[in-house]
Amino acid sequence: MTEKTAKKGAKRRSSAAQSAEARIARAERVSRALSVLYPEPKCELDYSTPFQLLIAVILSAQTTDKRVNTITPTLFERYPDAQALSKANLFALREILRPIGFFRAKARAIRETAKLLVKRHKGEVPRTLAEMVKLQGVARKTANVVLGEAFGISEGIAVDTHVERVARRLGLTEARTVRGVEKDLMALTPREAWAKDHLRMVLFGRYLCVARSPKCDRCPVRSDCFAPESREG
Ligand code: SF4
Repeated sequence: MTEKTAKKGAKRRSSAAQSAEARIARAERVSRALSVLYPEPKCELDYSTPFQLLIAVILSAQTTDKRVNTITPTLFERYPDAQALSKANLFALREILRPIGFFRAKARAIRETAKLLVKRHKGEVPRTLAEMVKLQGVARKTANVVLGEAFGISEGIAVDTHVERVARRLGLTEARTVRGVEKDLMALTPREAWAKDHLRMVLFGRYLCVARSPKCDRCPVRSDCFAPESREG
């Protein structure tokens, strides 16, 4: 086979064509490689309690963890728990949240979340997905992050923009919806690996497999990649 033919073949590679076994093997290789790259992955949001983590995750929508970390010291000093936040003055809350964008909606959402935590759960964060998603501003992704990070409970895999991009590039899913991506990933990896795999994919997507100009020359899973970017250079 000439080099030209080989390159053409590589370009025709499609993640959809692989067998279930091949995909599981690929997922295992990716998981192993990312666990070497990030042996002890940590959520990059600053928090001290499950309640603070939940609030920080809600605030991280449409912005970065770093930006959220700039305002949470003030927020949590003033409102350290659900009881305090549930009674917060909305205008004062908005002023604290102003630097992170969408501050009006987020101020309302986190105060409502705190009220519901007080009303239904004695101010504590519930430990099931079903109860979590009934809270204001808490969708499945947020619930999965908090359950995994705060309690080590894995009912699903949190799929954010990084996880979705990485999963697609590495041929782990072709699903069209976030829920579909989550289901595919859940089927490929053992439950006990979900929480850490999620964190590793987030870190990998945030720092190496970035949306534009991914750092493919430093990628430990390049041979498993289907993205056109991986074949440049
Ligand atoms: S080779 Fe590049 S695009 Fe593919 S997974 Fe690695 S960093 Fe991402």
